[in-house]
Amino acid sequence: MSSDGLTTPIQFLKGVGEKRAEELRKIGIETVGDLLEYFPRRYLDRSTILPIAQLEKDQEVTVAGEVVRVERIRRGKPRLIVTIYDRTGMLEAVWFNQIDVFERLFRTGQTVAFSGKIGYYRNWQIVHPDFDILSEEKDPIHTGQIIPVYASTEGLKRLGLSSYGFRKIVHNALERYAEEIKETLPDYLLHKYHLIGRAEAFRQIHFPESRERLNQAYRRFKYEELFFLELLMALRKHYYQSPVMGIPIAVDQKVVDELVARLPFRLTRAQRRVLNEILEDFQRSHPMNRLLQGDVGSGKTVIAWLAMMITVRSGFQAALMAPTEILAQQHFLTLSRLAEGLPVRLALLIGSLPEREKLRIREQLAGGEVDLVVGTHALIQEAVSFARLALVVIDEQHRFGVEQRSTLIQKGKLPHVLVMTATPIPRTLALTLYGDLDVSVIDELPPGRQPVKTYWRTEERLPRILDFIRQQVEHGRQAYVVYPIIEESEKLELKAATEAFQHLQKKVFPAFRLGLLHGRMKMEEKEAVMRRFREGEIQILVSTTVIEVGVDVPNATVMLIEHAERFGLSQLHQLRGRVGRGADQAYCILVTPKDITEVARERMEVMVATTDGFRIAEEDLRLRGSGEFFGTRQHGMPDLRFADLIQDSRVIQAARRDAFALVEQDPHLRQPAHLATRRHFKSAFARKFQMSLIA
Ligand code: ADP
Ligand code: MG
Repeated sequence: MSSDGLTTPIQFLKGVGEKRAEELRKIGIETVGDLLEYFPRRYLDRSTILPIAQLEKDQEVTVAGEVVRVERIRRGKPRLIVTIYDRTGMLEAVWFNQIDVFERLFRTGQTVAFSGKIGYYRNWQIVHPDFDILSEEKDPIHTGQIIPVYASTEGLKRLGLSSYGFRKIVHNALERYAEEIKETLPDYLLHKYHLIGRAEAFRQIHFPESRERLNQAYRRFKYEELFFLELLMALRKHYYQSPVMGIPIAVDQKVVDELVARLPFRLTRAQRRVLNEILEDFQRSHPMNRLLQGDVGSGKTVIAWLAMMITVRSGFQAALMAPTEILAQQHFLTLSRLAEGLPVRLALLIGSLPEREKLRIREQLAGGEVDLVVGTHALIQEAVSFARLALVVIDEQHRFGVEQRSTLIQKGKLPHVLVMTATPIPRTLALTLYGDLDVSVIDELPPGRQPVKTYWRTEERLPRILDFIRQQVEHGRQAYVVYPIIEESEKLELKAATEAFQHLQKKVFPAFRLGLLHGRMKMEEKEAVMRRFREGEIQILVSTTVIEVGVDVPNATVMLIEHAERFGLSQLHQLRGRVGRGADQAYCILVTPKDITEVARERMEVMVATTDGFRIAEEDLRLRGSGEFFGTRQHGMPDLRFADLIQDSRVIQAARRDAFALVEQDPHLRQPAHLATRRHFKSAFARKFQMSLIA
């Protein structure tokens, strides 16, 4: 919000003194505008409040009534009981903690609402309910009014404000300043979708006249949110493409055929299709910005390799950036092997190399003596310049922020960029998260792969599982045993992994060669262990999740994950993706304690039910909610408060069409119809994303 009245500091609002202003600032409300954007968390009315006479045990409900007793019990377990009456029955709210605090809040005669799970102990009860003191609004429930409930009750309590008090402040703000809330959407879009105006939407979201009006407010805000998100994407895409020239790479089909023929396998149909999409981009005059999606094991690296080699053979340099040193090392190895006998000079540039070595490689890159470099973010963080960089491949994009991507883009003239992601996401979501990129999908696994068999077992079964691993290793296969990283303490993590390793080596598998890999090892040690595992010398690799992404050892057939309940779905899928990369049947065994949370249980069930990364991503999204889905922030995305990226896919598509059409037609938002949109975009986004997308 940028209009003057709305930037009024909160302490000048009627009903807010210096003291309250200070509390409000603590929850991020500094101006009148901030207050108006502090939307209700939920609403109470007759449709959401249940009469006490109709309660059933274990229901999640909201009940409202008059406080008839506030009673502190000292016998037995000390507790506070607040009893309410709603003309149909009595209900008790019970607190065992912070009794003093709650006792001070309630008085007989108040009207209050309690929410929570219904229990029964002599009376209907809710233990530690969510509550809202409605009080002074005499009998709000029976008047059919819809009452907004703000923030957490805790938060309001700290504010020294009852919900009623908070509602009053918001009411004052609306009365005085609603006029100044400016429209942000072009008129023609408001008409097209019959959306209500912005000021009206603010009024209705705080004090809805009816459910119907409230829904209209939601509809408007949802569209607005998605429209501006897509506008950001449209402007970024326009910005990458428009004034700047790319580096057209002449593609020689003979070279392509030669390189493809050298591969130890035939490309899948999906791989060929994606390769062609990339090659077409190469020959254009503006730079490629392409996202390559493909499930784990679908063969993305080969495509990156071909794209880079074609670039090099046309006389340019290419760079491949990986999220970890281990992965960079592995890519370097794979590429070196593929490059044998070809006129290409490769280099590896990672942070842990000796300074002198890094310096030398940097000089070679700047001088054009290296054609293809593989690295970690050392590639972009250090002063690296290239003689003629034309292609940048970024592997496992979810590890990199958009900002890093643009840093690297600035290194060359404007190189082609291929971003590879290992966490496949549904197409509409990909369009939203990476709306400024073109998307290619490898939707097919190489032939002959058998899906990994996945089992979920409790800890008592470990001995039998270890027996199974013994059999596999005796048949010449290899195995991973993974322990979760213990976030609180690296020392603890180290201890857990080390002890497990010693136990397994000495007590369980004395005849086998085991290796240990964890995050605190030096790079050379890690690399030595990985090399020995790759070469088959280490038979069982005990590890923390440093092997999560990208590691490729086709002879490994067992992935045992201990404390699998501590991993997220996409992590589990990544880990499972380390096996099943060869022709042999592979197994993934998830081990958890007996008692795990409901959500953890669901995650295990999803893993057992499917190996399809796209489906797993959807389930992940469903279980976590799209807001949290691998941190949208990390993608350089604004927060979404109204829209759900999965459920609202139709609105997303509409908003996307509208935003892209707008930018196509008026890229700097200079037409009169777009001025309001322009103003809002600049104030809301431009600074936050460090972008001057519109002149
Ligand atoms: P990811 O997509 O997970 O990065 P990789 O590129 O690491 O997958 O490929 C997984 C494994 O499959 C590698 O061992 C690779 O050599 C092999 N591979 C890739 N493409 C094919 C193919 N068309 N046919 C057979 N094997 C392939
Ligand atoms: Mg990979």
